[in-house]
Amino acid sequence: MISLDGKVVVITGAARGQGAEEARLCAAAGARVVVTDLREEEGRAVAESLGGQGLYVPHDVTDAAGWDRVVREALAAFGTVSALVNNAALWRTAHVERQSAEGFEELLRVNLLGPFLGVQAVAPVLRAAGGGSIVNISSTAGLVGIPGHAAYGSTKFALRGLTRSAALDLAGDGIRVNSVHPGAIDTPMVAEAVAGRDWSHVPLGRMGRPGEVGELVLFLCSDASSYVTGTEFAVDGGMTAG
Ligand code: NAD
Repeated sequence: MISLDGKVVVITGAARGQGAEEARLCAAAGARVVVTDLREEEGRAVAESLGGQGLYVPHDVTDAAGWDRVVREALAAFGTVSALVNNAALWRTAHVERQSAEGFEELLRVNLLGPFLGVQAVAPVLRAAGGGSIVNISSTAGLVGIPGHAAYGSTKFALRGLTRSAALDLAGDGIRVNSVHPGAIDTPMVAEAVAGRDWSHVPLGRMGRPGEVGELVLFLCSDASSYVTGTEFAVDGGMTAG
């Protein structure tokens, strides 16, 4: 079993879905977890379910001042930050010709500017702690083109680029940066869109569960991945293998 004993993990968008499951897995592995999200009630409930190991901070990832508050409250409550999981995102689809510029910019702000601000806010604390880990949750839409994903896919491809560049900038400080690329995962984000869908096109023949992404995130936050940086991991049941 991978241990996160003594570590403090900040997870954005952790009020539900994959982020909430990652918070539970990290806490079960011994970490103290800062749960951030716009969704106050659900975010608070997730943090409370972790007992003394959880702290909820209301947070919009597009707001630089909000990031300062997250770091301040994490330090005040737990004394350090060891890892950041940039998980919060919006998913919207549209044919490239019908994608509005406003909608495109909104996804860019949440899915790309948000993680960028997160790297900037957390890197100094990780450096002061002697190193740490940043995990950017991208998507298979950041590995291959998917119809209707001009906006979302652009943000997720760019997040992969941010990951690799930041990994090179921060490697000298012992800060590792990697991206995770989930396929179809059973969460509220996609529940309506995928209801009743057939999964025979996925080699493993089914959707993924949030915990199946969470186990990889746990590994990347831990010292078990101490020589892993600047790379990407698909968790997609084999969907992008071909
Ligand atoms: P979800 O919608 O269930 O959870 C995302 C959370 O992010 C929500 O709680 C939401 O309130 C929060 N959020 C949105 N905008 C925010 C903002 N501006 N500031 C702070 N929080 C904000 O989604 P999920 O399926 O758990 O997705 C988690 C990650 O996995 C996302 O990065 C998503 O793009 C990625 N992903 C999901 C799937 C899937 O099939 N579910 C597939 C590929 C990638």
